[in-house]
Amino acid sequence: MGTIWVGVDDTDAKGSGCTTWVLTELLGLAREQRLDPIGPPRLVRLNPNIPWKTRGNAALSVRLGHGRGRRRWVGTLSGRRLFAYASGAEPTTAELERFARAAWQVVLDASPEAEGTDPALVVASRRPSPELYWKAVREVVAVDEARAALDAVGALVRTRGDPRGLVGAAAAIAWPARRGTWELLSYRQPERVGKPRTIDPETVRAAQRADRRLFLCHDPVTRRLLVAPHTGCPVLFGLRATAPEAAVRALRTVRSEPWERWVLFRTNQATGDHLLRRSAASIVPFLSAILPGTVSAPPRALAGGHVLFSVRDEEGDEVRCVAFEPTKTLPRVAQALLPGDRVVVWGSASRPATLRLEGIRLVRRVRVRRLSAPACPRCGGRTGSLGRGRGWRCRSCRLRLPPEHATTSVIPRAVRPGTYHPTPSARRHLAPRATEPAAARADDPQSMPRATDGGPGARTSSRAPGLARAFERFPAPPEREEDT
Ligand SMILES: [Zn+2]
Repeated sequence: MGTIWVGVDDTDAKGSGCTTWVLTELLGLAREQRLDPIGPPRLVRLNPNIPWKTRGNAALSVRLGHGRGRRRWVGTLSGRRLFAYASGAEPTTAELERFARAAWQVVLDASPEAEGTDPALVVASRRPSPELYWKAVREVVAVDEARAALDAVGALVRTRGDPRGLVGAAAAIAWPARRGTWELLSYRQPERVGKPRTIDPETVRAAQRADRRLFLCHDPVTRRLLVAPHTGCPVLFGLRATAPEAAVRALRTVRSEPWERWVLFRTNQATGDHLLRRSAASIVPFLSAILPGTVSAPPRALAGGHVLFSVRDEEGDEVRCVAFEPTKTLPRVAQALLPGDRVVVWGSASRPATLRLEGIRLVRRVRVRRLSAPACPRCGGRTGSLGRGRGWRCRSCRLRLPPEHATTSVIPRAVRPGTYHPTPSARRHLAPRATEPAAARADDPQSMPRATDGGPGARTSSRAPGLARAFERFPAPPEREEDT
């Protein structure tokens, strides 16, 4: 193949989110050893429902070699530009071994034992099957399974402490990256780490306004800035984009304290890769699911602004659906559903047959009719009911009418068919990309959210055809954690 694959993960229980920084250190090491990234560095989010996950459950990988052909600017390290190449010439075995040795020392130096981190490093000349990625993003991969997949490709493996990081490191290498987005991560000067971040929010908003290829930069509804983590990690800010040049250009717009380095990552964020169409009966904890069905029990408001309702799938099995308050949009939509509505819901399972919703598509509304008093056929006056089944009587001329004279009307519905996603600040890293509110409707925070396109299982999608096909292959598709 002519390259070396490097994967790193760090199951830091406290989630200081430094794994991306470790990879930037490895990129620095590679450059010292005259190795180039072949293709962009990769930031891969894995199953967001795993209880022992690190914050955001990220793993990193990069392919290294002697760069050839077209190149792309993917970072600035130590004041020098870093380029990723379209292809590369094979490093020698001696070069590979030298890199692997020094890389493990870099990882250890970046993961102090005192902080309770359990780093894992994988160096391989071949990649594990993409199936390993799909399982790691949608289900749970055992450490032994990851180890076997790595043995099969002759990978060099290093771990300290809990070897669980092997799963992420292996999956990050296995990620086929056929669809994805980009995130440019900038890092703070070391002496500022741990102190409050200085970022001008107006420049962040301006950057997203100027280029719609940027996404999840801020949330106009909750007024939160989404580019900066709230942890003591070295990340200054992250700019997510559907095109690499959009993120690099935005770096010049955003005003902040000085960054020390930045790296542009190819990432599986906003792909919905974790979601799979499942039946109600197959929904078990730690999985995410997309479930088409019919609302089977009326919505019920819970304490704290959450809303609970039930959906029955085509096999007749029921799933409890919880729309959480922090998603802002979903409880309001859920509250407006009626039994009989056709919906597609998606989310993660914490208990059997219970989904914590990450999105709702209202496919078809049930029509509910109600009877109301007819107008008087003789004088045009209003009539009143004489009681259930006893007909009507005109209030002016006292004319009596049988019950069947009632006027039927369809109960007006507050919610329109369409797809509803959580407010941007409540979207998961892997959540399928969706329209973001242009501005807060602060005057009426209780107003019904607007439906958007796309989302899992959409028959028509605003996304690329390739993406639609991918949804077909991995039957059914398309929803944020605290950061990086
Ligand atoms: Zn009358």
